[in-house]
Amino acid sequence: MIRPLAPLLALVYPARCPFCGRVLERWEDGMCDTCQRVLPWVEPGEAQRQVDGCARCLAPLWYRDEVREGVRRYKFQHGRGHSRLFGALMAQCLARDWAEPADLVTWVPLSRKRLRARGYDQAELLARRVGEVTGLPAVPTLEKRRHTRAQSRLGTEGARQANVAGAYACLPGVELSGKRVVLVDDVATSGATLAQCAACLRAAGAARVVALTLARAK
Ligand SMILES: [Zn+2]
Repeated sequence: MIRPLAPLLALVYPARCPFCGRVLERWEDGMCDTCQRVLPWVEPGEAQRQVDGCARCLAPLWYRDEVREGVRRYKFQHGRGHSRLFGALMAQCLARDWAEPADLVTWVPLSRKRLRARGYDQAELLARRVGEVTGLPAVPTLEKRRHTRAQSRLGTEGARQANVAGAYACLPGVELSGKRVVLVDDVATSGATLAQCAACLRAAGAARVVALTLARAK
């Protein structure tokens, strides 16, 4: 019964480009043609960030300009809508830059407190969309045990590592023997959070962890 309403809703809430916010033309799919051309895409083979415990750390975009703005809007306003495009871009990046097979997709979780406040977990939505596009199951494996400060507000690598040390653990009963896991988050800054989560997954038996984010800081 929702379907007949769709054209009407499109008039009232026209689809917008998740990066620059411009209303999309009918022929534009998911994002506008300008952003498609000018966004800071990570080129194939461009040096990948090293993260402890991860075989690779992949991202389709660099974290600056409109990408930074798009991520901010995604986190605080338009989670569900924008995860469709963002997750698809991440799945394309995985297919392009990671030749080996994987068994499942999982994500860096929010704390319960943050999840209640925001109403959705932005990394989970991305992971579920990556799962949809790749055909891999999206499985919750991690929990955040304590609140941490935003990594982006902390200046030094050491401060970021200390901030997330021991903050994550595997959910009770999670067993990943021999599994090749794609670990999803929205942005990779220092990589400290991804490294913490990868260590938990490895401790639960994961054979390989590949980190996949929408954007990556230089
Ligand atoms: Zn745009």
